Amino acid sequence: MHDAALVLFSGGQDSTTCLAWALERFERVETIGFDYGQRHAVELECRPHVLALLRERFPRWAARLGDDHMVDLAVLGQISDTALTSTRAITLAQSGLPNTFVPGRNILFMTFAAAIATRRELPVLVGGMCETDYSGYPDCRDDSLKALQVALNLGMGQRFNFEMPLMWLDKCQTWALAHQLGGTALIDLILEQTHTCYLGVRSQRHAWGYGCGSCPACTLRARGYTAWLASAA
Ligand code: ZN
Repeated sequence: MHDAALVLFSGGQDSTTCLAWALERFERVETIGFDYGQRHAVELECRPHVLALLRERFPRWAARLGDDHMVDLAVLGQISDTALTSTRAITLAQSGLPNTFVPGRNILFMTFAAAIATRRELPVLVGGMCETDYSGYPDCRDDSLKALQVALNLGMGQRFNFEMPLMWLDKCQTWALAHQLGGTALIDLILEQTHTCYLGVRSQRHAWGYGCGSCPACTLRARGYTAWLASAA
């Protein structure tokens, strides 16, 4: 019964790993992405390349990978004032949260995903939220997502199952999972095609991929990759 899934796919390392994870498990997999005026909109340009290369280089996944849904959430950029949706320095706000936190983002993403999953008859929603190595975003917590699963199931009269394969992994283990799922070919695809950097920098290529090398997202990605290489050696 649970043979079809909708994956929240941003074009980054985490969601690409989640997509590979879903393609290994489910007969039918569709993807959803959100344009919310993110400063790193370049990640949206990475999405079609990643999808095309997954089809081309992983024939066993190609037949399972179905439609991609892009949702315009420009309204989220209009109602929030953060370092992810406008040009400003990334700092820690008074609340203790980094000012890259977009209030309500994952709640809205999951809600829109559930609405599309209802229409497309996809009973499993897959997201790359993670509590282990995260930036302190409260909507990435396991408890937040479990509560949201209950709320959406009640409110939509559905029986969705949320799957968060990265929830308890650190960035090193996320690289290891990608390698386990798709070997060197998937690692190479992630390094070359996915985007993580908050500042949207793609002019600098490092061993771990493209990015400014100093924002929180780049720092996590680089640290995880270095740790994974060391553990795999
Ligand atoms: Zn960066």
